[in-house]
Amino acid sequence: MTEEMTPIGLKEGMKFNCNSQNECFNDCCRDLNQALTPYDVLRLKNNLGMSSQDFLKQYTSLHYGPVSGLPVIEFKPNPEAGYACPFVTLKGCLVYEDRPGSCRMYPLARAIARSRDTGEITQYFALIEEPHCKGFGKETGQTVEEWLQGQDVNKYNEHNDKLMEVIRHKNRILPGKLEGVLSDKFYLALYDIDEFRAQIVEKELLKGLDIPEDILTKIKIDDTVLLEFGIKWVNHMLFGHKMTFGE
Ligand code: SF4
Ligand code: SF4
Repeated sequence: MTEEMTPIGLKEGMKFNCNSQNECFNDCCRDLNQALTPYDVLRLKNNLGMSSQDFLKQYTSLHYGPVSGLPVIEFKPNPEAGYACPFVTLKGCLVYEDRPGSCRMYPLARAIARSRDTGEITQYFALIEEPHCKGFGKETGQTVEEWLQGQDVNKYNEHNDKLMEVIRHKNRILPGKLEGVLSDKFYLALYDIDEFRAQIVEKELLKGLDIPEDILTKIKIDDTVLLEFGIKWVNHMLFGHKMTFGE
């Protein structure tokens, strides 16, 4: 399959319209090779009313990023179903409200650069035009920025950007494949967050760490706070970074 990438700015027009009348409807949800971020897993398991452990076991497989060496989760490949997403139906996406960030971004690619001085993030976008997708060239009357808002993708990007820091440190401090207990800790805190919470509550996983009471209370009831906490915990356990709160 050939594809064309065209850089595009946030204020430019988004000439792309995906809808169920397009002859390609659902084609993009087949022949998948789709990685899921920790925030994707959180949203999907809650949509399905499953524990993270059950969701990961039933729907995902684990491999290691060839560049990052970190554990990567993707939808379990199903050759009998043409490698289709487990949630695609004839009527569309079964988990639409909580579909992964990459499903929301398509057909846009996003890259970021973070300023060393201010920490400010600059985003860059490109349109990826694939021959099977018939949504291109159709006016929506929206800018790229408005289209992204309609996809409700910004909070996905915010969470995923926090993970970029882990990846950056990993390559610098622990090059190569992450293995053994460190890999287990990464998987536990960032993907299997219900088990992470259970180990915090029942097995005193955080013993010896100085965690403020209000954070401990919040991570017991709020998955998003737990995930943000998990990134700090991983930075601490893998790279020795001090865990700080309230920033
Ligand atoms: S292939 Fe493109 S236009 Fe067709 S359903 Fe998927 S995203 Fe929409
Ligand atoms: S989660 Fe939904 S939108 Fe994403 S690939 Fe699966 S069916 Fe398609």
